[in-house]
This record gives sequence, C-alpha cells and structure tokens, in this order.
Amino acid sequence: MSARPLDDPRQEAAALAAAARRWLEREEAAGIGDLAATSALRAMVASAASSAPAPAGGVDLFGKPLPEAPVSERPIVEAPSTEVIENPFDDELDPGGVEARADIEGASTALLSTIASEVRACKQCGLCDTRIQAVPGVGSARSGIVFVGEAPGADEDRRGEPFVGRAGELLTRIIKAMDDARLIPGVPLTRDTVYICNVLKCRPPENRNPEPDELDACRPYIRRQVELIQPKVIVALGRFALQSLLEKSFAITSARGQWLEYHGVKVMPTYHPAYLLRTPAAKKDVWADMKKVMGELGIAF
Ligand code: URA
Ligand code: SF4
Repeated sequence: MSARPLDDPRQEAAALAAAARRWLEREEAAGIGDLAATSALRAMVASAASSAPAPAGGVDLFGKPLPEAPVSERPIVEAPSTEVIENPFDDELDPGGVEARADIEGASTALLSTIASEVRACKQCGLCDTRIQAVPGVGSARSGIVFVGEAPGADEDRRGEPFVGRAGELLTRIIKAMDDARLIPGVPLTRDTVYICNVLKCRPPENRNPEPDELDACRPYIRRQVELIQPKVIVALGRFALQSLLEKSFAITSARGQWLEYHGVKVMPTYHPAYLLRTPAAKKDVWADMKKVMGELGIAF
C-alpha cells in the first residue's frame, strides 16, 4: 500500500482507501484476514470514504452509484457514543434494596402466619357461618408487591388460598410475564415472592357482592398485613378491591393506571383478572399498568 504522492490530499485519501479495500477483499476471499488488522483497515476505509469527497463520475469509492446526498453527510461508520447512559433505577437496583426486602421478609413471615391463624378463626362477621374456610393470603414480603383482590370464590373457599380458580390462573400468568420481563437480579417474581390476598377474607354466599359491614369488619386484617409487608407497590385488582382498600368510590376504567396511595404505599389500580377473562382486549391495559409497577420497583423493562 504505497502512498503515491498526489496533488490533492482528498484524492490521495480516496486512492489509499481504494487500495486498502482491494487488499481487504483479497484477504477476505482467501479467508485469512486477521480480525484486528482487518477491522482497523475497515475503519480506515470508512473514514477515508466519509472524509474524502466522492470522485467525479457518479460512483463512490466502491464503484457504486452515488446516493443523492453527498457521501460526507452520511457517515458510514458512526463513532462509538461516549455519552453516559444513566440508569434511572440505579438506587433501586442497589443490592442493598434486595437485602432490605430479604430482611423485611425475614421479620414478617412469622407474624403473617399469626394473622393467618387469626383470620382462620375469625367470627367478626356473618360470613364465618357460610364459609368452608377463610382465605388469609399467600406469598411473602420478598418482592415488595402485594396483589389485592375482592373476595374468595368457590375454589378459594375450598382450598383456603386466594386466586386459585380461572381468574387466579390468569393472575399467576401475569406475575410470570412480569418475572420474564424483569432485569433485577435476586428477586424473582412468583406467587411465593409477591403477596396475594383479598380485602374480604371469606367467601360471600353465591359470590354476591360484599356488604359494607363485612368489608369494615375485615379491613383491619389487610391493614396489618400491609404494615408487616411494607410493600413498595400494592396492585388493586378491580373496583371492589380498590374501593374497599381506599374507602372511597371509584370507576375502575378511569382510575386504572393512575397512582394512588394507601397509608403512604403506592397503589396501582388495574382490571380484575376475572374481567380480563371476559374482555381479553383489556389485557394490554393491565400490561401497561404492570410496566408502571415494574418501573416503580426498579425493574427495568
Ligand atoms: N377473585 C378475587 O377477587 N379473589 C380471589 O381470591 C379469587 C377470585
Ligand atoms: Fe372475619 Fe373477614 Fe371472614 Fe368476616 S370476612 S369472618 S371479618 S375474616
């Protein structure tokens, strides 16, 4: 690659680049190109191509027809960006956050069991006469997410566990999808690492709507569960869960996706999974709401 002195330095650059390109093509054809040398040469060819104007005649350095805009305005190789990309979740991704959650889990597990025993023995409202068993809640404080539903249905009443029927299967799939999308190390999202419960712990007969006095009688349980779990986010599933939790009337269609607050804890209202079973088109809205939850938890997506 001897550089023949040329009068016009731009022509010289073009000639050099053309020579280098021919060498590269030969090396590549022979399959013996040294990777480092080849890429260095590639960069040189590219930079010559972008700094030197194309020779006259309507073709570029590589013999291809010229594009409409001058080559110099279309860099072939972009310089690597030196911009520092800031992670908006830096604080949350601090492993200390993960450890803090583990500590809260450790401190709350036994007390959550105590509350569960109280709930199973509870006779604070008439539903204790019609239930098969009470449904206190399942999971742990590990991830800092609490999903709150309305009341147990027939499946939950039989098994003593919330969200185990068809709507429950869908909720489990939502949690799995959130886990698949997560990037935070050390906190997998499963039914064991989130907490799942209902505002009302016993099944109303025939799944009728909960009565205000039943909700009032049961409300202290969820309050104590939340105090122990210290969640980062509560997801309120459907209008009844949201209304009973916040003791205020809401329309779920307008409330969903908007942050609310329960005793200092962020609440994300979204549609109930049973509604999604009837209205699958609304799943995308729930997913949008869950992305906000993951953002709040420091889970990049
Ligand atoms: N729907 C609820 O709101 N809670 C359950 O536990 C099951 C279905
Ligand atoms: Fe007690 Fe709540 Fe069950 Fe009523 S619904 S009996 S208050 S646990």
